Amino acid sequence: MKNAEIISKKPVTDGLLDYERAYKEFSWEAIKKDICIRNNKVNIAYEAIDQHAQSWRKNKVALYWEGADGTCQKYTFLEMKKLSDKCANMLRTLGVRKGDRVFIFLPRLPELYISMIAIAKLGAIAGPMFSAFGPDAVRDRLHNSEALVLITTPELKERIETVLWELPKLEHIVLVNVKEDYELEESDVCYKTLMKDTPDKFEMEWMEWEDPLYILYTSGTTGKPKGVTHVHNDMISHSITTKWVLDLRDDDVYWCTADPGWVTGTVYGLWGPWLNGISSYIYDGRFDAAKWYEIIQTFKVTVWYTAPTALRMLMKDGDDLVKKYDLSSLRYICSVGEPLNPEVIRWGLKVYGLPIHDNWWQTETGSIMIANYPCLPVKPGSMGKPFPGIKTAIIDGKGNELPAGQHGLLALKPGWPSMLRKVWGDEKRFKEYFSINGWYATGDTAYKDEDGYFWFVGRADDVINTSGHRVGPFEVESALLEHRAVAESGVIGKPDAERGEIIKAFVVLHEGFAPSKELEEELKKFIRHRLAAHAYPREIEFCTNLPKTRSGKIMRRLLKARDLGLPTGDISTLED
Ligand code: AMP
Repeated sequence: MKNAEIISKKPVTDGLLDYERAYKEFSWEAIKKDICIRNNKVNIAYEAIDQHAQSWRKNKVALYWEGADGTCQKYTFLEMKKLSDKCANMLRTLGVRKGDRVFIFLPRLPELYISMIAIAKLGAIAGPMFSAFGPDAVRDRLHNSEALVLITTPELKERIETVLWELPKLEHIVLVNVKEDYELEESDVCYKTLMKDTPDKFEMEWMEWEDPLYILYTSGTTGKPKGVTHVHNDMISHSITTKWVLDLRDDDVYWCTADPGWVTGTVYGLWGPWLNGISSYIYDGRFDAAKWYEIIQTFKVTVWYTAPTALRMLMKDGDDLVKKYDLSSLRYICSVGEPLNPEVIRWGLKVYGLPIHDNWWQTETGSIMIANYPCLPVKPGSMGKPFPGIKTAIIDGKGNELPAGQHGLLALKPGWPSMLRKVWGDEKRFKEYFSINGWYATGDTAYKDEDGYFWFVGRADDVINTSGHRVGPFEVESALLEHRAVAESGVIGKPDAERGEIIKAFVVLHEGFAPSKELEEELKKFIRHRLAAHAYPREIEFCTNLPKTRSGKIMRRLLKARDLGLPTGDISTLED
């Protein structure tokens, strides 16, 4: 166990001051008391926006937005209320009602955030998607959820044009950033035109706590991505985890670098900070170390929530670059999504003068479950301790709890407010999460040390984590098979210093096709285009066959062991 090193910094927080006491005395019911309840009904959009628009915070900036081209805009809570009311009215005129699915395929534009709030106000269900998605990824999500409306841009619509005919339930496409000479198709509407003549007052739908709020699709080992569904009740977890883990307070300028296509960008890029009335900065540009430091300097960012890959890339760009910027506004840094290397934490301490607080959670858990807190020492390499109200355990395959130091499955006791409520249209998959003696099985392996800190070991399945993106090998294999040259494929995650893992594909070609550098590049491009920019295999190896079980399943474990020169383990089920 690697728990000797401890980084202890005096807390500068007025948030969580005594972890042990909070854990012991914690009650979700007590958190609920701050939420506005009307006839036992609620709405997260009221809590996040409208209540602030009616309070002393009404002229406080909710959103500082910067486009990729450097355009800056800001929106107060009152402006966000009016715009989301308008947008909700607009969507209602298109026929959107409570429970309908409205999917969003946008870059990180203000309209993305405004429509997320509007959809909640309508009682509809939002489906945010990465703008890097290709047509297959978009089709699968809209098809599975039977989405009624898609909000996108003309450029992104063009990218998915080929699959739109496969979506008979999709009634309208709302287009953002339409140029004057753009010719709208009959089923399309222009966001700007419709918003112009729409009233900025909307009677929001008051919801049951358990009514769905958003769906995010996430990868497993088999099958297409699953529609993890969350509800308004999640706000109880969102607000308190934001306060205690991200340590936000009223005078902060907070920057979450995640896109809402990933759960972190939805929960902690949008709901969490606004439930707490915090000013949030959003950048719609790509990663660039100098630009990122400039953002912190210009906007005087105080709390920064980012990911290990980004931090590793910043580290690669060196200490000298850091010195060119005034980063003195920063007071707190958090990281999530992949294991955070101790080396990165030590580097962060050296160049930013602050420890980086790792935390752990998943799309399914809906909020942070294990974290490092301002009031506790950081053990570099550890994910930290369970959030108050969360019972976390290391279990064996039968659900028995294992003692400190022993590796096992990371499991959670069901019942926290933001736990997934269903997998859209797949009850069987939902139940599988709880199949080990009633525990919620996370799919990760870990261990706990004597002080109660949790340490990540790996995934218990084949799911790949590349730069924090969760990618199912099956999705990539299936997409590869759609290329005319590919007969079979097996996909694994290969350790990588910068990205955590990269995707590697083993490909068997059809007769008449020969391996070549050109074909390799063509396949990479094919997957980038069909699936998503983050989901393409950076390495492709052509081979003549793939190891399979007697029942015909590709043995990815064996592919990986052979590739990495590791022991192959039990191969009794291997076909000849
Ligand atoms: P996602 O649902 O896409 O956010 O992916 C969740 C998965 O990311 C977890 O099951 C872990 O495998 C991984 N993950 C998230 N946070 C951490 C962390 N702090 N350390 C290690 N792995 C993490």
